[in-house]
Amino acid sequence: RIEVSGLYKSFGSLDVLRGIDFSTPRGTSTVLLGPSGSGKTTVLRSLNVLDVPDSGVVRIDDVSVDFSALPPGKAGRAAGQRLRGQSGMVFQSHNLFPHRTVLENLTEGPVVAQKRDVDEVVAEARVLLDQVGLADKASSYPYQLSGGQQQRVGIARALALKPRVVLFDEPTSALDPELVGEVLAVIKDLAAEGWTTVIVTHEIRFAEHVADQVLFLDGGVIVERGSPAQVIGDPQEERTQRFLRRVL
Ligand code: ATP
Repeated sequence: RIEVSGLYKSFGSLDVLRGIDFSTPRGTSTVLLGPSGSGKTTVLRSLNVLDVPDSGVVRIDDVSVDFSALPPGKAGRAAGQRLRGQSGMVFQSHNLFPHRTVLENLTEGPVVAQKRDVDEVVAEARVLLDQVGLADKASSYPYQLSGGQQQRVGIARALALKPRVVLFDEPTSALDPELVGEVLAVIKDLAAEGWTTVIVTHEIRFAEHVADQVLFLDGGVIVERGSPAQVIGDPQEERTQRFLRRVL
């Protein structure tokens, strides 16, 4: 479960998040929609503490950080690290280790950073590769895979760290159109399996199918929220209507 309240973030004089509040029950998918520059990526990066919010509270399951009262120095960084450990992030492009096999890409984090048992991690990694349809690619190197396959490895790698929630930042926007479907299918499976996900995407039809909750952002605030049938099917706010007319 994710709970966000009163999130503010500025870059210099640019106020990017201006009071973001939402919660996502465990096992649900939340899709963030909104025009370019509305703050969607910054919300995800705040959940994962890649960006440090100026103020506000983020809770993921039993770890909560109040950024308004973050202690300075080491204690503050440690609190941020604990929160970051709760989520796995899948980026636009996967950033796989190019000189490691697919299997090694999955096992590196759990073995080196989480100091978990190698045999157990390898066994779990093989299950995850099977789940994303890449059981036969364990010994391949990233350059030997298509963009869609690489992105699916990126998803499996995020899951290998056993996060509480999985955050997707435009996971298909760097892909050739014919590769988009296979990646969206994997994300949809995860949602159906009960993973808690937050997804930034421009794929509106996909959002309609996968989301339990849609948040429409504009200018660093959530302008409209609700089920896909409400926000995408029957938007009430003028800004949402204008956005959807442009992208649909
Ligand atoms: P897009 O759909 O184009 O990815 P977005 O809704 O995800 O947009 P963000 O990436 O969150 O938007 O960015 C919101 C605003 O914050 C943009 O104007 C962006 O230029 C600015 N911004 C983001 N990160 C930084 C940074 N590190 N330094 C300065 N400005 C930043």
